[in-house]
Amino acid sequence: MTRLPGLPRLPGPTCDHGDVLALEIAGDRIEAGVLGADGAWRHRESRPSDSALGSDSIIDALVDCATELSRRYTPVAAGVAVPGIVDERTGLAVFSAHLRWRDLPLPRWLADELGIPVAFGHDVRAAALAEAQFGAGQGSRSLLLLSLGAGVASAAVLDGRILVGGQGRAGELGHLVVQPDGPSCPCGGRGCVESLASTTALLARYREARGAADGTTGGAAGGGTGDAAVDAAEVVRRAHDGEPAAVAVWRQAVAALADALCAAVVVLDPKRVVLGGHFAETLRVADLLPQVCADLSAALAERLTVQAPPALVPTTLHGQAGCLGAALLARRG
Ligand SMILES: [Zn+2]
Repeated sequence: MTRLPGLPRLPGPTCDHGDVLALEIAGDRIEAGVLGADGAWRHRESRPSDSALGSDSIIDALVDCATELSRRYTPVAAGVAVPGIVDERTGLAVFSAHLRWRDLPLPRWLADELGIPVAFGHDVRAAALAEAQFGAGQGSRSLLLLSLGAGVASAAVLDGRILVGGQGRAGELGHLVVQPDGPSCPCGGRGCVESLASTTALLARYREARGAADGTTGGAAGGGTGDAAVDAAEVVRRAHDGEPAAVAVWRQAVAALADALCAAVVVLDPKRVVLGGHFAETLRVADLLPQVCADLSAALAERLTVQAPPALVPTTLHGQAGCLGAALLARRG
């Protein structure tokens, strides 16, 4: 168990009734916290959970964590945010390819286990709510959160309200097709933004590009990169250092993200775009996030004609946006 530093005391409304429990399933981790009625974290932690072991293992880990924190802090409500397709209205985790689940009544299971009300939401939508209220979106009633990681997703807050959509699937910007004959995507399509700009895609495409340059096949772990420890942030660093293979791969990723952002900005007109997600946090730690924001801002500005480019800013919640969003869902009930 890794303890994370807490956020500073949060401004804004407090929960009149007591502490709330916040849970987020974030890839191969469970982010958990207890937000006090005074708006300060009483507890924050990040627990590893192995998605390779399947959904039962992750749910067991989630329930264990929730039960343990509930006994220790006696929260009055809980909020849980999960990835994939989420139906907030029916309380179903409808589908996640990565976590291999379908139609799980997760909030009902947790409510039965904990004996308190459990609010439920989509991880990126919850993160956008947190950014709007306490993060880089403060002061802006309309914002778009672009979440970068092993997938690419987005969520919009418009006129102060989170956009859910008619089928609960608003914000799947990662599956906007920007290169119809492009690489295959985990969704079954081709040329989606995610197939060009997720961390997985960046690394795979860089290996291919290096393999082609070196006359090797690339693709295998470390093959073609010249270094088995290269990760997606290192590809971005090498691009900024001018390495040709990295430059080519990063340019395509930026173009794909900017094409998608352009479409979203034209349709939704957000005042601000917040760059977040696990990869944004990795880039921040590597001191690359300001440059990435600048790359994307420039590419977006080139594409917009009628709209004024929105401010594109990095998250200020340092990997805690999803968990804080889950706490806000719990407070809202
Ligand atoms: Zn796709």
